[in-house]
Amino acid sequence: MTDDPVELAARAAERHVIVVGGGIGGLVAARECAKVGMKVTLLEAAGVLGGAVRRAELDSIVVDAGAESYATRGGHVRDLLADLGLTDRVVTPNPAGAWLVGVPGVAPAPLPKGGILGIPSNPFADDVRRIIGWGGAWRAYVDRLRPPLTIGKEHSLGKLVSSRMGDKVLRRLVTPVTAGVYSAHPDGVDTEVAAPGLNEAMTRAGSLSGGVAQLLADRADRAKKAPGSAVEALAGGMSVLVDALANDLTELGGVVRTGIDVQTLVRDGDRWTVTFQADTAGEDGADAAEDVDDSTETLTADAVIVATAEPSARALLDAHVDALGAPGAAPEIEIVSLLLDAPALDAAPRGTGVLTVPGSHAAKALTHATAKWAWLRETAAGRHIVRVSFGAQGEPAATARLDDEEAARLALSEAADMLGVPLAESMLVDSHRARFTQAQPASLIGAAERRLAVRAAVQEVDGLAVVGAWLAGTGLAQVIPDAKNEADRLRRALLWT
Ligand SMILES: Cc1cc2nc3c(=O)[nH]c(=O)nc-3n(C[C@H](O)[C@H](O)[C@H](O)COP(=O)(O)OP(=O)(O)OC[C@H]3O[C@@H](n4cnc5c(N)ncnc54)[C@H](O)[C@@H]3O)c2cc1C
Repeated sequence: MTDDPVELAARAAERHVIVVGGGIGGLVAARECAKVGMKVTLLEAAGVLGGAVRRAELDSIVVDAGAESYATRGGHVRDLLADLGLTDRVVTPNPAGAWLVGVPGVAPAPLPKGGILGIPSNPFADDVRRIIGWGGAWRAYVDRLRPPLTIGKEHSLGKLVSSRMGDKVLRRLVTPVTAGVYSAHPDGVDTEVAAPGLNEAMTRAGSLSGGVAQLLADRADRAKKAPGSAVEALAGGMSVLVDALANDLTELGGVVRTGIDVQTLVRDGDRWTVTFQADTAGEDGADAAEDVDDSTETLTADAVIVATAEPSARALLDAHVDALGAPGAAPEIEIVSLLLDAPALDAAPRGTGVLTVPGSHAAKALTHATAKWAWLRETAAGRHIVRVSFGAQGEPAATARLDDEEAARLALSEAADMLGVPLAESMLVDSHRARFTQAQPASLIGAAERRLAVRAAVQEVDGLAVVGAWLAGTGLAQVIPDAKNEADRLRRALLWT
């Protein structure tokens, strides 16, 4: 044990950490270790870094095929962007908001303002009543007349909403939001995780809609003190963050290898060995790798950070971590991005995008990216970029069995229907299709306990850390601070023991 800076720096330089997985979680964790002078090797299975932050090109225009923005809450992503010198690139979305389509017998309409997760504070507000009708509004108002709620009585968001405000609020307002945002049905969503503070506000107000009103008022107070958008992005796309992290990591001496699919993790005393099938195309800067046979390589280090999505992480951790528990169900989703020459979209007929009532369309949601982001509108120079998403929890993407061309055609016809404008195939300039396995949403009932149990079991094992959305929760605002914390825990253990 020493706290002498010179000795600590020397000790750090002797430590080697392998990071498996080059998504945002792995890149952030790797950079944290490299920052203190540790030797870091990051191994990524794909040919490119970034994972769910994926860059695509549509007729040479760089777009986000996966994550396109980040939540500003907590300020964690902003701090990282500042640290990387990217603050100048931060942009905010067009506040116009999205529309809702697919309500039986109701014309497409803007999603009501003044709600939380689709739950309205005032069921009689024009924009709410337009969607749930007078009958739905009166049924929702019963919530104000019924006996007050007690905290924690109903975990399930779906059950809470239907019992207090009725089926129309649930099916027409809340389900499209949870399906679009979490790829999940509200019945399985934990109210307190999805809307922190709502249980307490309901108890104070004596009703669900009253609780929503109180929470909105609290948020408005906070926004007055610290104005700003709830969501931001980067001009040039979120892949700019991936490039900046990778460059910084390399400048700090870290080694990045792509095309490396890590297959096993072996612990021998206080050393870890990873085995992988090397894809020779990805071998830039290979270090200390020893050949086992023609294509299998091993690499040994003092510690390993597993930063892959859940299925690979479980396969690698299984032999080392007790009580990993059952895997979470992870929705398979697809995003088809379309570049369109369609002047009818200049007027942004559905604001920044569209959510669908589940069952009404093959697609789950649509983002009119050039209406949402000014930088992209300028880059597209009069053309339009639309992202159509398919698939949700327990429901395969409608595009899953289609080839790329068929998927683009389906996305085009869904987009025409959702945007309410004719879109002929001749208007389609280019398309890109991306497949993802989304981490189980953190707001599902039981997910928080499950993640804490896995985390605790991992922390029992010396020289091992696990980062990424399956434990941190989905979203950059969750993954980034979590990866920093886990890397910090590992760094301290390596330096002080
Ligand atoms: C379509 C989509 C849209 C999203 N939109 C947003 C958004 O707008 N805002 C937001 O905040 N969040 C969004 N998210 C969530 C966010 O992108 C993720 O939570 C986050 O990027 C996950 O990062 P990660 O490092 O945990 O995992 P990943 O990004 O999944 O990275 C894991 C990496 O590990 C690699 N890997 C896997 N197995 C191995 C192996 N055996 N050996 C080596 N490497 C391996 C993979 O190739 C991958 O690159 C979105 C997610 C998706 C799928």
